Amino acid sequence: MDITELKRAQALARESDERLRLAFNTTPDAIAISRLSDGLYVDVNASFESLSGYGRDEIINHTSTELNIWENVSERNLFLQKVREKGFVTNYELNLRKKDGQIFPALVSSALVNLNSQEHLISITRDISEFKKAQEQVRLLSSAIEQNPIAALITDVEGKIVFVNKCFTDLTGHNISDLKNDVHVLFRPNNFSNSLMQQLLEKVGQKEKWSEELMIERKDGTQFWASVSLSAIFNLQDVVSHYLITLEDITEKKKILQDLVLAKEKAEESDRLKTAFLHNISHEIRTPMNAIMGFSEFLVDPELPEQKRKQFVEIILRSGNQLLSIINDIISIAIIEAGQEKLYETDTNLAEIIRLVYNQYLSQAANQHIELRCDPLLCENDYYIKTDKTKLMQILSNLVGNAIKFTHQGYVELGYHVEKEYILFYVRDTGIGIPKEAQGEIFKRFRQARRSDGKIYGGSGLGLAISKAYLDLMGGRIWVESEEGKGSNFYFTIPNRPLIISQKDDDVSNIEPTLSFKSKKRILVAEDEESNFALIEEYLSDLNVEIVRAEDGEEAIEICERQQPIDLILMDIKMPRKDGLEATMAIKKKHPTIPIIAQTAYALEEDRTKILQAGCDDYVSKPLSRERLIQVIRFYLD
Ligand code: ADP
Repeated sequence: MDITELKRAQALARESDERLRLAFNTTPDAIAISRLSDGLYVDVNASFESLSGYGRDEIINHTSTELNIWENVSERNLFLQKVREKGFVTNYELNLRKKDGQIFPALVSSALVNLNSQEHLISITRDISEFKKAQEQVRLLSSAIEQNPIAALITDVEGKIVFVNKCFTDLTGHNISDLKNDVHVLFRPNNFSNSLMQQLLEKVGQKEKWSEELMIERKDGTQFWASVSLSAIFNLQDVVSHYLITLEDITEKKKILQDLVLAKEKAEESDRLKTAFLHNISHEIRTPMNAIMGFSEFLVDPELPEQKRKQFVEIILRSGNQLLSIINDIISIAIIEAGQEKLYETDTNLAEIIRLVYNQYLSQAANQHIELRCDPLLCENDYYIKTDKTKLMQILSNLVGNAIKFTHQGYVELGYHVEKEYILFYVRDTGIGIPKEAQGEIFKRFRQARRSDGKIYGGSGLGLAISKAYLDLMGGRIWVESEEGKGSNFYFTIPNRPLIISQKDDDVSNIEPTLSFKSKKRILVAEDEESNFALIEEYLSDLNVEIVRAEDGEEAIEICERQQPIDLILMDIKMPRKDGLEATMAIKKKHPTIPIIAQTAYALEEDRTKILQAGCDDYVSKPLSRERLIQVIRFYLD
């Protein structure tokens, strides 16, 4: 019998068998065959041995339960039930146990096969630990990018948008679909050309980073500042596979930065101004101080001719007044800056205010050969309103003082118009004028207009700032119209709140300050400072008075008890042991008729109110003016 065919068939079968065995033994997947009836393993490949950790001998003729391969028995039952039902199960994920007890995630596919007329289970198992780890990492990274507070957009190399995170949609209003694969929509405000975009892509393709602050357009057309960065994502072959664009909203940051820069500039400017102010103030204080100290030394010389003595005394007085006005300015600005300035409104006669300011500056104007003009009707016709008299006087004096200071020929005119809602005051001059660019500045603290002629006029640069602050408080406003070389018109308004007043108050200023008393008067002077007492003694020396001194409040009370009658008390406020206010209260209780005049160095209106509340009849402020002191004393004693 010719068995060539048989032999060839046998050879082919053997060959096929060997190929299958080779595949069975070399595949990296673990393959096991077990009998369904008793579960005993009949064959496993080498991968199964290395995966399970058992040797072939330990496996064959044992069951998976004996080898304790399943982590969870009920899971195994479920799995086997599924195989039985369907005849196969693919890619079933469950946990298995190795010989050393280590649990690992596995992907199992099983099928029922018939071998030698018996049902067998053939299973292919794959360790998916690494895959699981990678999957976890991907999940981690994608949730990181999804939940990142920085907006992210990913495109492929063709520019197709494959991902935007939630923050991106929140920030720009765009989701993937409405961008229609066109990122240019976002960058519209920046006019990016295609070639520039291409250059950028090439740059990041070289692993360079690119970031810039750009204006981004939202879906609704509004825009915001963002820090934009572009980077390339490389695949395993190190070829660009995607691009990542991130946007961070920096509107707030930019604003904070701008505010910081502004604040820094402001602080620097304020610093510069303060330094300039200090220099200026130092000069302004030292100049009159210099005159006072220098000329005072000459006065000591008994040989000094009378005429020179008079001249020096005048200089000292003038310098003293100058010094006082600068100190007042500094105190006023400090009070304003501390937010402590308040209004003290009283019945105020505008005619009287105009008269006072006019008289105050008449001689100074004459000395400078300038005419001081004022409509006489304004000085004669009383017009009463409720306002802060002291502040009004101060503003008007400051404006007239400035006008005279900055005018070399012509005139200075002051006056007011009554309008329905407000009163408009004006101070006009034919002086040097103020450059346009300085007209807004001069109302700020420490500002002085730069003068083209370079002349130094003196001044602290505070007067107008104080006036403006007072007017803000009083409900008015101030402004200037001026032309360089021609002159300036200063205007300010205060609310018009007219009053009908039939009789004028007694006016201390009408009293003749020189006459002495017919009968001797006894005046108690409570004053702790030696020099102040000496000055008062000197001032009152011609008045026909006997002066009794108390060095503190306590002593003042004692003297009132012992040495009757006391006709008037001049009470210093700040004194040791008992201050002037306490002493006044105690004395007024027992001797309510003795007039008490407080002398105060305090600048606050509030303190003056306290003085009057304590029972003082009146007050004189330090530095004391001889004229005013005598006028007040005479007013109460005549
Ligand atoms: P100062 O004490 O320096 O006079 P002010 O605040 O009163 O301070 O004025 C500020 C600046 O405004 C002055 O230094 C001056 O340059 C300018 N100025 C004010 N009034 C006049 C005026 N009538 N004519 C010209 N310049 C004026």
